[in-house]
Amino acid sequence: MQDSSDSIIEENFKNNILVSESPTLDIIQQSDANGQQLPLKLVKQSWISYFCECFRFSNISAFRKAPKDFIEPQLPKYSGKNTLVLDLDETLVHSSFTSLPCDINFSLFLEDQEYSIYVLKRPEVDRFLKICCELFEVVIFTASLEEYASPLIDLLDIEKKIPYRLYRDSCTVINNSFVKDLSRLGRDLNHVIIVDNSPVSYSLQPMNAVPIKTWIDDPQDHELNILIHVLEKLSIVNDIPKVLNEIKKRNWTLSGHSVYKLIESEFIPANRGDYNSPVNYNGVKKFKFEDV
Ligand SMILES: [Mg+2]
Repeated sequence: MQDSSDSIIEENFKNNILVSESPTLDIIQQSDANGQQLPLKLVKQSWISYFCECFRFSNISAFRKAPKDFIEPQLPKYSGKNTLVLDLDETLVHSSFTSLPCDINFSLFLEDQEYSIYVLKRPEVDRFLKICCELFEVVIFTASLEEYASPLIDLLDIEKKIPYRLYRDSCTVINNSFVKDLSRLGRDLNHVIIVDNSPVSYSLQPMNAVPIKTWIDDPQDHELNILIHVLEKLSIVNDIPKVLNEIKKRNWTLSGHSVYKLIESEFIPANRGDYNSPVNYNGVKKFKFEDV
């Protein structure tokens, strides 16, 4: 809403008479890159920043603590699903500039230079992503540059099932490291999991993290196959940090499938989770709601 003093100052501004008489308008003078002064500008201030300088600072700090969310509010088709944040490099794939037999090859253009990228896919990554997209709202969050990661994700997510991608420019730099601040997703952190090979990536929210071994090229690696059983159970728990904390207290390990059995026996109501599980889904549903 505009008050009468605002109208007066705007009229004066049009006439090139710049006298700030309004408590809600400031006059600012800016310079261009060469130091030349630009025309004076009127900037509307919030009443609270005018009221007191200390409020102005507290206002700025509040803004910094609550910036815009990285992704939009959850779409109806994902309603009720937990959010799974997946790292890219050394978690799902390994990329190299070196020419070698690979699963994906694409060109990258940076500053008029063409680079060939050779990508190895972690064993079972296609099946892993397919199941994850059925169980969760999936976000790929990488500390790599968008110019490299975006075309790579296009080639990994052929069916376009992954709704969100975040790149280096969404990372928070702490001690010269790229950290993925899950609080910026705009999701309830009780319903968020991050899978990442780099502990520094989740150092702000370690209780939401499922660690995974760094993968380069081992064809005998089974981590994704084991992990999917754990994620299947985590997809239907209501307090991710609480469950992960319990598991970590008992010497967290993904091996031997004991972790998912523990989640199932202690955190999931009986008879939930087995029906129509995409982990063992063979195209025939074992259960339909109409059968009840
Ligand atoms: Mg990584």
